[in-house]
Amino acid sequence: MTLTIEDCRYAGDRTFRIADAPTSAHMTKGDRAKCTELTDENRVVMGELQDRLYADGREGLVILLQAMDAAGKDSTIRHVMSGMNPQGIDVYGFKQPTARELAHDYLWRAARCLPERGKIALFNRSYYEDVLVVRVDGLWHGYRMPKRCLDCSEDEFFSRRFGQIRDFEEHLYQNGYHVLKIFLNVGLDEQRKRLLARIDDESKNWKFSASDLAEREHWDAYMSAYEAAINATATKHAPWYVVPADQKWHARYLVSQAVVNVLKDMDPHYPEVPAGEKDELAACKARLLKE
Ligand code: ATP
Ligand code: MG
Repeated sequence: MTLTIEDCRYAGDRTFRIADAPTSAHMTKGDRAKCTELTDENRVVMGELQDRLYADGREGLVILLQAMDAAGKDSTIRHVMSGMNPQGIDVYGFKQPTARELAHDYLWRAARCLPERGKIALFNRSYYEDVLVVRVDGLWHGYRMPKRCLDCSEDEFFSRRFGQIRDFEEHLYQNGYHVLKIFLNVGLDEQRKRLLARIDDESKNWKFSASDLAEREHWDAYMSAYEAAINATATKHAPWYVVPADQKWHARYLVSQAVVNVLKDMDPHYPEVPAGEKDELAACKARLLKE
């Protein structure tokens, strides 16, 4: 396999240029079976590591997925995460904020979804929407906030937010969390095909929204916003993975690899039973065997 998940990693040590980031690794049909097999293997490893993470209860993991519409966030979540024990993972979708959410600072709703240590939270979209759609659609101009917060240039407003996000993620790291950030990088052409499929296939009609076309018209602005956000927030402790997403089965494999890698880095262990409790275990075993 030519492209590895490490090639997709941005940790602040190199600049991310959206124009150079492939939306496809042009894998051949023959690679598909191999990718699927490796994804299956990763699912098993993920399940084992998640079990240890839960038992260990010392660290939590936030996995966040960002992408343009129809890049395959939902199906990636379905395929890759099916190896996890549902008791240890919660999935949260970040849609347009409610009035109550808008009345708080933008990190509030994300903070409410953080997992307890030992568990995993998967964010389908995330607080990064607050430096993407909010920037591209100029939503921040309409925020009900004091003048001192809004009376600045767009660059100033979002560089403040980038700083806040870096601090938030470092805060999480220092408090026992890992944050894995994935951008599913789908191409404009592939998105067109998938949106057409949502119209042509009745079972997919519910997924189509005319507003997706409006956002699509701002493609270049979105790509610039992604580039700025990724460069400003790719850090050693909270790296970004920019995954080519035109070939869904390849993207799934890469995402599964990123998840396995972060769990291996976290290196969770089953808690050791103290010597005194071992004697108790032996006594209990003897009682059960006597029955
Ligand atoms: P799909 O990729 O299948 O279309 P989706 O994640 O786009 O799924 P939708 O319900 O279609 O799900 O869209 C959620 C919408 O909410 C997105 O357009 C997103 O940009 C928007 N959104 C999320 N967070 C914010 C925010 N903070 N402010 C404004 N809009 C937001
Ligand atoms: Mg959508």
